[in-house]
Amino acid sequence: MAADLERITIRPPDDMHVHLRQGRPMRRYARRISGSFARGVVMPNLIPPVSTEAGLIDYRNKIRKAAPGFEPLVTFKLSPGIAPGQVAALKNSGAVAGKYYPEGVTTNSEDGIRSADEVYPILEAMEGHGIVLCIHGEDPSAPVLEREGVFLSQLEELVRRFPRLNIVLEHVSTREAVKLVDSLPSTVAATVTVHHLLFTLEDMMASGFYPALYCKPVVKGAPDREAIQRTVLEGNPKFFFGSDSAPHPVSAKRNPPVAAGVYSSPVAMPLIIDFFDSHGALDKLEDFVSRFGAEFYSLPLNEGESVWFKESWTVPGVVDGAVPLCAGETLLWKKSRRF
Ligand SMILES: [Zn+2]
Repeated sequence: MAADLERITIRPPDDMHVHLRQGRPMRRYARRISGSFARGVVMPNLIPPVSTEAGLIDYRNKIRKAAPGFEPLVTFKLSPGIAPGQVAALKNSGAVAGKYYPEGVTTNSEDGIRSADEVYPILEAMEGHGIVLCIHGEDPSAPVLEREGVFLSQLEELVRRFPRLNIVLEHVSTREAVKLVDSLPSTVAATVTVHHLLFTLEDMMASGFYPALYCKPVVKGAPDREAIQRTVLEGNPKFFFGSDSAPHPVSAKRNPPVAAGVYSSPVAMPLIIDFFDSHGALDKLEDFVSRFGAEFYSLPLNEGESVWFKESWTVPGVVDGAVPLCAGETLLWKKSRRF
C-alpha cells in the first residue's frame, strides 16, 4: 500500500458478500461494484434461487457480460432439495460457497432452512470438496435485536459437527458474535459490512427512521460497533470486508413495509478508507479489503492497483434506481475524478 495526503494505492479489493439481484437492475449494480471491487462473492437469493450448475453458470455469465473485468465469485443457495452428489458438480461449475438462510430470515428466504439437520448431508459434501459455508446467522423466531445472539449456539454446533468445513458468519453485528468467531478455530471467519462497522441503531432510529440503513441483521448498539471496530483495527484475519450491499428500488425503501437491505456499493470504499484513515490505521486497510477474504477462500490475491483520491463529493440521492447509504452526505475519498 502507498499513501500520501491526497492519494492512496492498494491491491484491488474484494467484496466478499454482495447482492447483485437479477434482470436489468443487475447490470447497473454489477457495473457499479466493478468501479470499486475486482471480485465479489455474489449471493444466490434470486427468484428462483441459484442452486443448480446451469443456474450458476448462467448468472456468472450475465454478470461478466454486464461488468467486464469484474469477477463474480458465485454461490448456491442451500436447500434440502440439493443432492449431496451434486456438490462436486456445483464446485466444478465455479461455486465458491453455499449460502445458508434460515427460513424467513431476509429477502427471498421464505424457502430457507427450517432446521440445520435438513442439510447435514450437503454440508458434509461441502466439507469434503472445500466449499465455504456462508451463513446468515440469525434465528428469525427470536426478538429482532437478539436474533444473532440466539443463532450462535447453532453456529457452534455446526463447527463441532463439521470441523473441516470453512464457515463464514456473514455480516457480524454483535459483540457476542465477534467474541465467538474470534474464539472458534481458524475454519471460522466473519464478514464485516460498512454499515455494521460505522453505524448504530441510534443512526437508524433516533432522529426519525432512516430506511437506507435498515437491514438484517439490524445495526446494533455502540458497544457492538466498538467490538467490530476494535477487531478490524487490530488486523484480525478472521474478519474481512463483505458489504452485504443489497439494493432495492426506491419505492421499496420509501413505502412500508420497508425492504431490508443497504445499498452500499457506491460508498463502501470511501467510507472504509476514511474509517482506517481517521483511526491512523491505513496500514491495515489493504488486509481487510484485499487479502484476508481471498486467503480464507484460498483464492489468489488480485493483481494490479486500485487508486483512491482524497477529494470530497456528495452522494446523489438516488444511484442506479436505489437510495444509497449516505445519500446527500459528503464523503472524502473517490476512485477517480468521475463519479
Ligand atoms: Zn446478504
